[in-house]
Amino acid sequence: MDCLFCKIIAGEIPSSKVYEDEKVYAFNDISPAAPCHVLIVPKEHIESANDLNEENADILKNIFLTAKMIAKEKGIAEKGYRIVNNCGEDGGQSVKHLHFHLLGGRSLEWPPG
Ligand code: 5GP
Ligand code: ZN
Repeated sequence: MDCLFCKIIAGEIPSSKVYEDEKVYAFNDISPAAPCHVLIVPKEHIESANDLNEENADILKNIFLTAKMIAKEKGIAEKGYRIVNNCGEDGGQSVKHLHFHLLGGRSLEWPPG
Protein backbone atom coordinates (compact mmCIF):
# COMPACT_ATOMS: atom_id res chain seq x y z
CA MET A 1 0.00 0.00 0.00
CA ASP A 2 1.28 3.42 -0.91
CA CYS A 3 1.10 4.95 2.56
CA LEU A 4 3.91 7.00 4.09
CA PHE A 5 3.24 5.92 7.67
CA CYS A 6 2.84 2.23 6.71
CA LYS A 7 6.30 2.52 5.12
CA ILE A 8 7.70 4.16 8.25
CA ILE A 9 6.19 1.40 10.44
CA ALA A 10 7.70 -1.23 8.13
CA GLY A 11 11.11 0.46 8.33
CA GLU A 12 11.14 1.16 4.59
CA ILE A 13 11.43 4.87 5.34
CA PRO A 14 13.66 5.83 8.29
CA SER A 15 12.20 7.52 11.34
CA SER A 16 13.29 8.61 14.78
CA LYS A 17 11.50 5.94 16.79
CA VAL A 18 10.30 6.82 20.28
CA TYR A 19 8.30 3.69 21.12
CA GLU A 20 7.01 0.52 19.51
CA ASP A 21 4.93 -2.44 20.56
CA GLU A 22 2.84 -4.96 18.66
CA LYS A 23 0.01 -2.52 17.98
CA VAL A 24 1.46 0.99 18.13
CA TYR A 25 4.41 2.90 16.63
CA ALA A 26 5.58 6.32 17.86
CA PHE A 27 8.19 8.57 16.22
CA ASN A 28 9.36 12.15 16.23
CA ASP A 29 7.60 14.48 13.79
CA ILE A 30 9.98 15.52 10.99
CA SER A 31 8.82 19.13 11.33
CA PRO A 32 8.29 19.65 15.06
CA ALA A 33 5.78 22.29 16.14
CA ALA A 34 6.87 22.10 19.80
CA PRO A 35 9.93 20.87 21.75
CA CYS A 36 8.12 17.54 22.10
CA HIS A 37 6.25 16.54 18.95
CA VAL A 38 5.71 12.81 18.67
CA LEU A 39 3.37 11.06 16.24
CA ILE A 40 1.59 7.99 17.59
CA VAL A 41 0.04 5.69 15.01
CA PRO A 42 -1.68 2.31 14.94
CA LYS A 43 0.32 -0.32 13.05
CA GLU A 44 -2.93 -1.28 11.38
CA HIS A 45 -3.71 1.02 8.46
CA ILE A 46 -6.78 3.05 9.42
CA GLU A 47 -7.21 6.06 7.16
CA SER A 48 -8.72 8.56 9.59
CA ALA A 49 -10.96 8.98 12.61
CA ASN A 50 -13.85 8.57 10.18
CA ASP A 51 -12.77 4.96 9.70
CA LEU A 52 -12.89 3.97 13.37
CA ASN A 53 -15.54 1.39 14.22
CA GLU A 54 -16.51 -1.14 16.89
CA GLU A 55 -13.90 -3.59 15.56
CA ASN A 56 -10.83 -1.35 15.41
CA ALA A 57 -11.43 1.37 18.00
CA ASP A 58 -9.76 -0.56 20.83
CA ILE A 59 -6.51 0.83 19.44
CA LEU A 60 -7.44 4.23 20.89
CA LYS A 61 -6.80 2.89 24.37
CA ASN A 62 -3.30 1.79 23.35
CA ILE A 63 -2.63 5.12 21.65
CA PHE A 64 -3.69 7.25 24.61
CA LEU A 65 -1.83 5.10 27.14
CA THR A 66 1.25 5.32 24.89
CA ALA A 67 0.89 9.10 24.74
CA LYS A 68 0.66 9.28 28.52
CA MET A 69 3.75 7.07 28.92
CA ILE A 70 5.81 9.10 26.44
CA ALA A 71 4.72 12.36 28.08
CA LYS A 72 5.97 11.05 31.42
CA GLU A 73 9.25 9.82 29.90
CA LYS A 74 9.83 13.17 28.21
CA GLY A 75 9.16 15.02 31.46
CA ILE A 76 6.17 17.00 30.20
CA ALA A 77 3.40 15.12 32.03
CA GLU A 78 3.28 17.46 35.01
CA LYS A 79 3.16 20.73 33.05
CA GLY A 80 0.78 19.32 30.48
CA TYR A 81 0.56 18.56 26.83
CA ARG A 82 -1.87 18.21 23.95
CA ILE A 83 -3.00 15.15 21.99
CA VAL A 84 -4.29 16.14 18.55
CA ASN A 85 -5.94 14.23 15.74
CA ASN A 86 -6.53 16.04 12.46
CA CYS A 87 -9.29 14.43 10.39
CA GLY A 88 -9.89 15.10 6.73
CA GLU A 89 -9.38 18.17 4.60
CA ASP A 90 -10.86 20.81 6.91
CA GLY A 91 -9.17 19.16 9.88
CA GLY A 92 -5.78 19.59 8.20
CA GLN A 93 -4.97 15.89 7.82
CA SER A 94 -2.06 15.59 5.37
CA VAL A 95 -1.19 11.91 5.83
CA LYS A 96 -4.05 9.46 5.35
CA HIS A 97 -3.05 7.03 8.11
CA LEU A 98 -4.66 7.74 11.48
CA HIS A 99 -2.18 9.52 13.74
CA PHE A 100 -2.17 11.45 16.98
CA HIS A 101 0.20 14.33 17.64
CA LEU A 102 1.64 14.51 21.16
CA LEU A 103 2.70 18.11 21.63
CA GLY A 104 4.36 19.66 24.66
CA GLY A 105 7.39 21.30 26.18
CA ARG A 106 5.97 24.79 25.76
CA SER A 107 2.73 26.61 26.52
CA LEU A 108 0.34 25.87 23.66
CA GLU A 109 -2.17 28.37 22.35
CA TRP A 110 -5.90 27.84 22.07
CA PRO A 111 -7.94 27.93 19.89
CA PRO A 112 -5.96 26.53 16.97
CA GLY A 113 -5.96 28.42 13.68
P1 5GP B 1 -1.22 15.87 9.79
O1 5GP B 1 -0.97 17.21 9.16
O2 5GP B 1 -1.67 14.86 8.77
O3 5GP B 1 -2.09 15.90 11.00
O4 5GP B 1 0.18 15.40 10.34
C1 5GP B 1 1.16 14.81 9.55
C2 5GP B 1 2.47 15.04 10.24
O5 5GP B 1 3.41 14.16 9.67
C3 5GP B 1 3.02 16.45 10.06
O6 5GP B 1 3.19 17.06 11.34
C4 5GP B 1 4.35 16.24 9.34
O7 5GP B 1 5.37 17.10 9.79
C5 5GP B 1 4.66 14.79 9.63
N1 5GP B 1 5.43 14.12 8.60
C6 5GP B 1 5.19 14.16 7.25
N2 5GP B 1 6.08 13.39 6.60
C7 5GP B 1 6.88 12.84 7.56
C8 5GP B 1 8.01 11.95 7.51
O8 5GP B 1 8.44 11.49 6.44
N3 5GP B 1 8.58 11.60 8.68
C9 5GP B 1 8.12 12.08 9.88
N4 5GP B 1 8.77 11.70 10.98
N5 5GP B 1 7.07 12.93 9.97
C10 5GP B 1 6.46 13.31 8.82
ZN1 ZN C 1 -0.90 3.37 6.38
